[in-house]
Order: sequence, then structure tokens, then C-alpha cells
Amino acid sequence: MFKTIEAHIRKQVAPAALRAEFRQHEFESMRPFCQLVFCVSILIWLVFDLIVSFLGDQGFTWRSYVFIALLGCLTVVLRFTRRSHHFDVLNLLFIAVITLSMRLVIEGIPVALRPVWLVLGVSTVLYALSVLPTRRWSFFCAMVITWVVLNPFYHTRIEPDALEGAMLISYAVFLSGLVSYSYLQIRKAKLHNFYLSKVLLEQAYVDALTEIPNRRSFMTKAEQQLKLATPGQYLAMVDIDNFKKVNDRFGHDIGDEVLKRVALHIKAAMVDSEFARLGGEEFAIFLEGQDQQGAEQLVEALVRRVRDDAGAHPVTISIGLAQVTAGDTLTMALVKADQALYEAKHTGKDRFVLWTSRLAEQG
Ligand code: GH3
Ligand code: MG
Ligand code: MG
Repeated sequence: MFKTIEAHIRKQVAPAALRAEFRQHEFESMRPFCQLVFCVSILIWLVFDLIVSFLGDQGFTWRSYVFIALLGCLTVVLRFTRRSHHFDVLNLLFIAVITLSMRLVIEGIPVALRPVWLVLGVSTVLYALSVLPTRRWSFFCAMVITWVVLNPFYHTRIEPDALEGAMLISYAVFLSGLVSYSYLQIRKAKLHNFYLSKVLLEQAYVDALTEIPNRRSFMTKAEQQLKLATPGQYLAMVDIDNFKKVNDRFGHDIGDEVLKRVALHIKAAMVDSEFARLGGEEFAIFLEGQDQQGAEQLVEALVRRVRDDAGAHPVTISIGLAQVTAGDTLTMALVKADQALYEAKHTGKDRFVLWTSRLAEQG
């Protein structure tokens, strides 16, 4: 089953809207990590700068303060960045500033040591880049900036055509290839997982036939509402009258059409409430912020709406309505609504009945 769904999803090209949703979701979940990467990068650069400045007898120059201020500002901006496409630009700026500042620090150490530190710098930046939630264009731009600014042939004594230079070029190609590959693979796997979990979650919480929420969804949401104990809570159980006859007379497919039609009526009549198909031809509605008259009017309107639908296969519904009182669990409320529904069925159907303690005594 899982393999079938997975194979189906793999075949589908992820639509642009879904990709955008994925990028946003990814950025939101990784923002604290991005902030950590920015902060740690600044800290490492600062330590390195201090060592080079003081051991190399250069002093801590005004340029160091400018870079610290710039990198600090970008980290603060990240704290308030909410959109993933803003992060694509912000990250590019950060890479540009930090590689430039690294270059200036490395310029302060002896020429013979520079290539090692430049390559170390490039490797670290590229590795960090490969796990950040950026778009492809931003990733490859950042890669180019890193290699250009921290170019190990610039201001060093390595020649590209000498043995050392050839080794360095091979390493650069290998490193860039490896980092790009892992970046692309990680993105692909994450997008796939995002899509898969979205599809599975939708299937787990939506009724396949009527496409309205299912029992699992209703129980979860109603339970939450119950805990919040907002005023004016009512629970309604809806059941199609003589539905078996519809199936027997017109067939199961027509029965399914009727179920979909009733679901549409509930959806249209209860826009501000939680509703679901509990199973078979039973539905539930959770009302909030209603007084008794308001709740009665809403369910009465729904009964009328279904009755007045002059479709090819008209049906009626019965509703059991129960007020959710303090201390009621969801199961208790469902039992009350069920008792009221039973009463509606036994007093002629095509109506609603409000639960009273008398019904509990009868049951
Ligand atoms: P009452 O007025 O007392 O509710 O009678 P009823 O015939 O509606 O009630 P009953 O519970 O006896 O019948 C429910 C029927 O709903 C039985 C079952 O075949 C049918 N049913 C349940 N799920 C589905 C479904 O997904 N599609 C179709 N077409 N029928 C379904
Ligand atoms: Mg039934
Ligand atoms: Mg029925």
C-alpha cells in the first residue's frame, strides 16, 4: 500500500505551488538552525581575526568592526525574516560579507599559509551552504561568490599549471561536485517526504467519498474545542432517513451520490462549524458560540435545505441536537446527541430533536 502511494507520488512532477509551500515550510522549520549557523560563523571568524590581528601584530582594525557590524545586522535581519525567498537573498549577502572578511583576515597571514586557509574557508562555507534551506539559484550564486572571493590562486604563490595548482583545481572540482550533489539530493528527498506526508495526512483526515473531514479529524478537533470550553457548544448528529431504501431501489452508486449531496449541504450550511462524516450515512456537527435558539435555527435550516433539494433522488435527514454542558466528555455529548437522534427517528423523521434529560431516562 505504502509502496503504491510512494510510486504514484514519485511519478508526479511536484507542482510549482507545492514547491513554494515546501520551501516556506522548510525555511520556517530551519530558521533557528540558520540563525545558529550565522552566529557560529561570526564567532569563528572573530576568533580567527583576533588571533591573526594580535599575533600578526596588525591590531584590530576598523574594518573588523565594520564586518562584525554587517554580519551582526544580517543575523538580526534573519531573526525577523519570515519568507523563504527573502532568506535566499539574505544568505547570499551573508556569504558575500563573510567570505570577504575571511579573505581580508587571510591576507594578514604569511603567503605560504594562505592556500591552506583559503581552501579550508571555502570547504566550510560550501558545506554549511549545502544544508541551508535555499533555492537552487541562491545556492549556486553563493558557491560562485565563495570560489571567487576565496580563490586560492589569488594573492598566493600557487600557479594553476604547476603540480600544486593542478591538485588544487582537482580538489575544487571534486568538492564543488560533491557539495552540489548532496545539496540537490537532500532537497529532492525532503521535497518528496513533504509531499508524501501531505498526501498521507490528507488521506488520513479527509473522507474519501464526500471529501469532507472524517471521524478521526472530527474527534481530534471536537476534543480540542471541548477542552477550550468556549461558550455555547452544541453537538449535532445527522442521519439520512431510509437510506437503505435508496441503495436498494437505485443502487449503491446513486446512494453514494446522495451521500455527497448531503455532505455538500452540511458544508454549505455549517461554514463556521466543525463537521464530518462519521461513517455510513451519519454525519456530525460541532457548533460554538450559539444560544439554544441559534443552534436550533441552524439545524432546522439544514433539515429544510435537504428536504427542499429537488434533486433526482430526494432524501430527508434527521438530527439529534445536544448542548455540551460543563463536565461533558465528547463521548457523553455524542451519546446525548444519539439519544436525541433516536427520538427524531421515532417521532416521524425529517426533523431535529433537542436532547433533554427525559430522553436519557427513556433510553
Ligand atoms: P433510518 O431512517 O432509520 O436511518 O434508516 P436507514 O435505512 O437510513 O438506516 P440503516 O442504518 O438501516 O441503513 C444505512 C445504510 O447505509 C446501510 C448501508 O448499506 C448504507 N451505507 C453505508 N455506507 C454507505 C456508503 O458509503 N455508500 C452507500 N451507497 N451506502 C452506504
Ligand atoms: Mg444510520
Ligand atoms: Mg439512516
